[in-house]
Amino acid sequence: MARYTGPVCKLCRREGEKLFLKGERCFSPKCEIEKRNYPPGQHGKSNSWRRTEGSDFSGQLRAKQKARRVYGVLERQFRGYYTRALRSKGLTGLTMLQSLESRLDNVVYRMGFASSRNQSRQLVAHGHFTVNGRRTNVPSMQIKASDQIAVREGSRRSQFFKDLVAIAEERNVPDWVERDVKTLSGSIKRLPERPEIDANLNEQLIVEFYSR
Ligand code: SF4
Repeated sequence: MARYTGPVCKLCRREGEKLFLKGERCFSPKCEIEKRNYPPGQHGKSNSWRRTEGSDFSGQLRAKQKARRVYGVLERQFRGYYTRALRSKGLTGLTMLQSLESRLDNVVYRMGFASSRNQSRQLVAHGHFTVNGRRTNVPSMQIKASDQIAVREGSRRSQFFKDLVAIAEERNVPDWVERDVKTLSGSIKRLPERPEIDANLNEQLIVEFYSR
């Protein structure tokens, strides 16, 4: 599956806020937003890029881009989440966010087994996780309430995952996720409610963007 491979901090600078794409570094003084909080590019510091700021379209576009970047999904795939949500019975915006939260890479991140969604995606893609006992390397796999996720037996012996036990203990998990740090496994109890999803995301604007 294709993914964005360019500079990550640039994405935060374009959105003008921390998107927490780099794990521990995002909480350190090395964070680019702390040092250069203006859009990237030659004219980032000048006001010329602000021409379109404030329009309806600009707000909708930025809301969509931010959500796409937070979950690490490219445009075509992201539109697919919207299209499927539109066809479903529930609220389109909330259903779309719930589908994004149910991605295997996001669930592994929510369980505290990775410091960022990017790291989680890499761990999954390298085949370190099993779903219901079967090895998988598909970060976009949709996880259901009955699915059991675990670090693969062979991977558990590696130093990275031995160290992860202590690190994961320190990380909080949301109420809709349960995990067992000792066995490096877990599952989701249910889909997240809206207050349990990133409050900075504006699903209404994303729906407006795609229904223009
Ligand atoms: Fe964004 Fe993290 Fe980079 Fe800071 S360190 S700019 S929060 S990705």
